[in-house]
Amino acid sequence: MNRESRPGTRAVWAGEEDYLVHGATQVPVVLSVAYGYHDMDEWYDVATGKKKGHIYGRNTNPTVQAFEDKLKTMEGAEAATSFSTGMAAISNTLSTFLVPGDRIVSIKDTYGGTNKIFTEFLPRQQVEVALCETGNHEEIEAEVEKGCKILYLESPTNPTVKITDIERMANAGHAAGALVIVDNTFGTPINQNPLALGADLVIHSATKFLGGHADALGGAVCGSKQLVEQIYHYREINGATMDPMAAYLILRGMKTLHLRVRQQCDNAKALAEYLQTKDIVEGVYYPGLPEHPNHDIAKKQMKDFGGMLSFAVKGGVETVRELLPKLQFAHRAANLGAVETTVGPARTTSHVECTPEERAAMGIPEGLIRVSCGIEETADILSDFEQAFEQTAAALEV
Ligand SMILES: *Cc1c(COP(=O)(O)O)cnc(C)c1O
Repeated sequence: MNRESRPGTRAVWAGEEDYLVHGATQVPVVLSVAYGYHDMDEWYDVATGKKKGHIYGRNTNPTVQAFEDKLKTMEGAEAATSFSTGMAAISNTLSTFLVPGDRIVSIKDTYGGTNKIFTEFLPRQQVEVALCETGNHEEIEAEVEKGCKILYLESPTNPTVKITDIERMANAGHAAGALVIVDNTFGTPINQNPLALGADLVIHSATKFLGGHADALGGAVCGSKQLVEQIYHYREINGATMDPMAAYLILRGMKTLHLRVRQQCDNAKALAEYLQTKDIVEGVYYPGLPEHPNHDIAKKQMKDFGGMLSFAVKGGVETVRELLPKLQFAHRAANLGAVETTVGPARTTSHVECTPEERAAMGIPEGLIRVSCGIEETADILSDFEQAFEQTAAALEV
């Protein structure tokens, strides 16, 4: 769709018209694994890429393509390809470009699964990994200058929502000849477009904000046609294909992305400000707060500050154990980005595989609670936390 439009309108309309059949106003779920041809020449032309069409579901599927087309439009990208999960998008993208002897620079606070790729899997494929302090731009620049094939970033990060200057890092990466990749799962295409800030590839876990209803797994990568074609080729052979049903659910979820993200941002801001007033709260981490160390960078590169925040409570694990079960409008689960508010301790969710000492070294207190704000009405979220804090204080006799 090349009609001029704003992101929220694109979320509703983009990427769909090529896939509507029989006058349907909605993209159909095409479950067929294979596509048949009467004409042998046409079959040959589609199979060899001379003509548009589909051959086999591991390669392409109309429902999945509609999702890819919508996302690429929202990220302002030339091309997009999709995956069974966000982790498949990340691992397949890295494997497309990295060979033994290569070097990759990233940050310490990437998503837990991504961090495992860096610490467990890439080293055994003889890829050197340099992980910098998240938000330490000088350290990242120094490591990039030593030479690397990929600079891999994520902003905001999990769980302490740290911010990295994407434009500045993209310049550093390109000066060193590196490919700059940004995981934009927390940012969402509504709040942040890394390609416009200079990144080469943007990755999403579509499982989170894009789908938004915690009922489908998926991943995607967007960028130039030349790069995405290489990643698509790796994926079509290695097989981490997005399921058509998941593509449909995520496509439907994306139509309300701008509305959901707006409410999630409003809730996160209100909750962050409220938490700052509570004596039992030791620290609030949200890039929308002027006290956040990189608030200015967040303000420069994001349209709004997102639905994710975290806070640390006095009394550590004991307080967490009392507080979280008392919330009425929150799932206690490892997911994020859904319409329901979801909470969890960092020690159980994002950083479950670290020891308490390792978490402390990473600046993650044992009493850190991650909140993914849902789309509930703000006043209900605030009063829910208020009653949970009151009951917790009574139970702990503080
Ligand atoms: C969840 C998540 C992933 C991984 O996505 P899956 O769909 O669970 O594989 C990657 N990056 C970030 C930032 C995430 O939150």
